[in-house]
Amino acid sequence: MRNVDTDVLILGAGGAGLFAALHAHQADPALCITVAVKGLLGKCGCTRMVQGGYNVAIAREDSVERHFMDTIEGGKWLPDQDLAWKLVTLAIERIHELENELGCFFDRNADGTVHQKAFAGQTFDRTVHKGDLTGIEIMNRLAEQVWARNISRLEEHRAVELVRTRDGGAIAGVLMIDMRTGEYAFVRAKAVLLATGGGPTMYRYHTPSGDKSCDGLAMALRAGLPLRDMEMVQFHPTGLLAGTHTRMTGTVLEEGLRGAGGYLLNGAKERFMPKYDPLAERATRDFVSRAMYTEIRNGSVTPNGGLYISMAHLGPGKVAKDFKGMVERCADCGFDLAGGLVEVVPTAHYMMGGVEFNPDCTTELPGLFVAGEDAGGVHGANRLGGNGVANSTVFGAVAGDTMAAWVKKEGLRDPDQAAIVAAVGRCEPKTMASHGSLEPVRERLYGLMWDRVGIIRDAAGLRAALAELGQIADELANTGIADANRAFNLSWHDWLNLKSLVATSQVIAQAALAREDSRGAHYREDFPEAGALETSAYTSARLEGERLAIGMKPVAFTRVKPGQTLL
Ligand SMILES: Cc1cc2nc3c(=O)[nH]c(=O)nc-3n(C[C@H](O)[C@H](O)[C@H](O)COP(=O)(O)OP(=O)(O)OC[C@H]3O[C@@H](n4cnc5c(N)ncnc54)[C@H](O)[C@@H]3O)c2cc1C
Repeated sequence: MRNVDTDVLILGAGGAGLFAALHAHQADPALCITVAVKGLLGKCGCTRMVQGGYNVAIAREDSVERHFMDTIEGGKWLPDQDLAWKLVTLAIERIHELENELGCFFDRNADGTVHQKAFAGQTFDRTVHKGDLTGIEIMNRLAEQVWARNISRLEEHRAVELVRTRDGGAIAGVLMIDMRTGEYAFVRAKAVLLATGGGPTMYRYHTPSGDKSCDGLAMALRAGLPLRDMEMVQFHPTGLLAGTHTRMTGTVLEEGLRGAGGYLLNGAKERFMPKYDPLAERATRDFVSRAMYTEIRNGSVTPNGGLYISMAHLGPGKVAKDFKGMVERCADCGFDLAGGLVEVVPTAHYMMGGVEFNPDCTTELPGLFVAGEDAGGVHGANRLGGNGVANSTVFGAVAGDTMAAWVKKEGLRDPDQAAIVAAVGRCEPKTMASHGSLEPVRERLYGLMWDRVGIIRDAAGLRAALAELGQIADELANTGIADANRAFNLSWHDWLNLKSLVATSQVIAQAALAREDSRGAHYREDFPEAGALETSAYTSARLEGERLAIGMKPVAFTRVKPGQTLL
């Protein structure tokens, strides 16, 4: 096993990971900082995929209080208010840093002010953007700045275990697999940042990048850390549905299509949203997704089993001009968005749940920090579009600052060798020479999560899902890998991905069973009411030995109580 020592180890190179690296370096350029990432730095993860933009209260008529209230009300009073406050206040600093220090060009108005567009669920047009490719602008500038500094990179290195010291009192480092050779490496670090970006890719239809398989959440769980709000999985209503042969299925057709007046039609080509909500197609993501799922369940579906979006009534020429990128994306899959019908389906997009953490990004485990989509509590039951990239950049920067201060008073710690041996054992398939196929396991997981732990849930379905997830875990443990060559062994990594996804799916299903109400992204058909807001509680899941324990913890209304407003 290769051994590496570093002061700061950052797992993941999205908005959170790269901001953390830059801030830690800025605080102390002499620090040894290492970014370890499953893909290539700057080219992987979801920050790069951000289309719509970045929420920030920089307009004169807007305020951080207003952004805060939108976040709390959108999150159905479940967000941690101190985390949400940090998000809205520090987003202003981060957007200025992105523009003035890192060199991002965002769209501007004719008078020179930054252009901010409307996003669903917000009372003010506050989404800063670069056309509809905001994430590429942010990631390219961040990556350039990281490359230009003395920051080490372990690319195509997959983190597989957070390893504690022998007395269990702190984190000692992280076990990795160098995907290029298949060798194990152990990286000792004074501070470790978990920023692997969640990603609900266990559902039949999903939007995140393929490198995201909830590894960070699964590692945190095994390390004994509590995960909160795990039942809160956000579905985006309009995922492209182009058949099982293409990875384009599940990718997002942007919200602006519904905003501009697009209609959703069932398989009989009838518009159905007005019967569910007066706002019809312009209702919030959770509401539209639920109505769509109900229509699908009622059986009036398209040839691929979904619904249609129709834009032609707005004028094909106008649609082609206003939604050029979307029209091209649909054409690639054989659909005419401007003049015809496109098949769509709700698609799993974002996990509001994650590791419980403090506003300075510390966790329960000394030396372990968390930021970005791996962290839970900022968004509660719903994430506002545009608050995702704000979250990863804000808390990534906070983590960088905190870790730089932390490592000043810390030394390197020795790992529990027995824990490393056990972790290597867990990473090894039963055999690497048999003809096992992961495809049936994956399909079973996808279908199960979509059908029973998806948009509409009930106790019977969740219990059945938990039983079947146990069987899937066993099946996976007994599935061999047909290729013994360890270098770039994609089947092996696929197997590891599925293991993380199954472990995280079990937490989602357990948390969904524990929450006996319906809030935001979580809808229980057997408990359709939201429950009293004043006594709001969040789910907290933790492994106790082999058992997953779920508790409910009260939300602390530290800044505003239900029924009140800061405005
Ligand atoms: C299609 C799409 C569009 C979106 N549009 C918007 C939008 O308009 N506005 C908005 O606010 N949000 C949007 N989001 C959400 C937003 O992308 C995320 O909230 C945010 O970018 C997450 O940042 P992150 O740094 O936590 O994770 P990511 O940017 O996803 O980075 C995670 C990193 O961790 C690495 N990694 C994963 N596992 C491991 C491992 N085991 N070991 C080492 N490295 C690992 C990955 O390779 C990657 O580098 C969108 C998401 C998608 C999928």
